[in-house]
Amino acid sequence: MKTEIKSKKSPKKRLFLKIGTGVLLVIVVGCFIGCCTPEVLLQVQDARDGKVLKNGTAVIYSYKYQISVYGIEKLHPFDIRKYERIYLALIDDGLLTPEDVFVPEALTNDDILLIHSEAFIKSLENTNTVASYLEAPQMSMLPAFVLEDKIITPFKCAAAGTFLAAQQALKCGTAINIGGGYHHAKPDKGEGFCLFADIPIAIRKLQQDGEIKTAMVFDLDVHQGNGTAICLAEDDTTFTFSMHQGDIYPNPKEDSDMDVELMSGEGDREILPKVEKYLNAVFEKFHPDIVFYVAGCDMLNGDPLASLTMTESGIVKRDALVINACRKRNIPVVMTLAGGYSPNAWRAQYKSIKNILKLPLGTDE
Ligand SMILES: [Zn+2]
Repeated sequence: MKTEIKSKKSPKKRLFLKIGTGVLLVIVVGCFIGCCTPEVLLQVQDARDGKVLKNGTAVIYSYKYQISVYGIEKLHPFDIRKYERIYLALIDDGLLTPEDVFVPEALTNDDILLIHSEAFIKSLENTNTVASYLEAPQMSMLPAFVLEDKIITPFKCAAAGTFLAAQQALKCGTAINIGGGYHHAKPDKGEGFCLFADIPIAIRKLQQDGEIKTAMVFDLDVHQGNGTAICLAEDDTTFTFSMHQGDIYPNPKEDSDMDVELMSGEGDREILPKVEKYLNAVFEKFHPDIVFYVAGCDMLNGDPLASLTMTESGIVKRDALVINACRKRNIPVVMTLAGGYSPNAWRAQYKSIKNILKLPLGTDE
């Protein structure tokens, strides 16, 4: 009898022991990695103003954008170190110093409630729900106390970076948030690795502060900006444009003010002329006080979640087209990074930002 009971309980005990040892191990490894964090990353944690670069561009970033859950985050297709890699590469190039960078605070609940519901905020206390928003079932094994610190706060900081970028863009012309672009987030739920609708929140905050009346969202991430479309639906003060691959997530699509569908296999040759064409088309329809550019680079060839075939140099040209179209019209522009899941995604965005930081004011190239 005793033996029976023992044999029933011992596998459970062994499992707990294994999980406990595993958790301890990842915490030790996490602490070790934390100790090895480069100094240039540690310098961009506390909220502060930076310096506008010579060509009228402000760069916004915080080391706090980084989601780090003892390595579990690496199981997600999103390259979560993308932001950090881009920042470090720009520092290495000497194009940026840590002192140049504008570092945001985290969003407050009042900010979040400008777009999202109370029920949504409450839902962020549930690990399973957050794991479903992030499409990362492995994260549902995390204890609740880890959630706020390791996942929610990084998203709050990266989303707040979009608002800070908008404030700077209104002063200097162009601002790049090395993060943000969470265009699948909806008022009552997160979706597609997006928690907070950073751009709609930034628009409402700027409108509330009297800094802008109107705004445009120009979205070239390969997935439709369905969350943005819902958050800003039936709003005459905003114009939403999304150009995306038609036969992939999200399904069904929502109605932006203007949607353009691309077909599987299209690359630089087809897409770049369309970007130019629709930039002209949207500015004929709407002249906003500010543009939010969702510069996802999952249009790249080889992206695991899409099947377009743009090259890295095509992405660089695409982003320059958008930035220059706004500059020529004297419209402040905020660039956010959004999606991009292939191993070279971070490099394409780094090259693009490097190009924008070198662009002379008011020219085409
Ligand atoms: Zn995407």
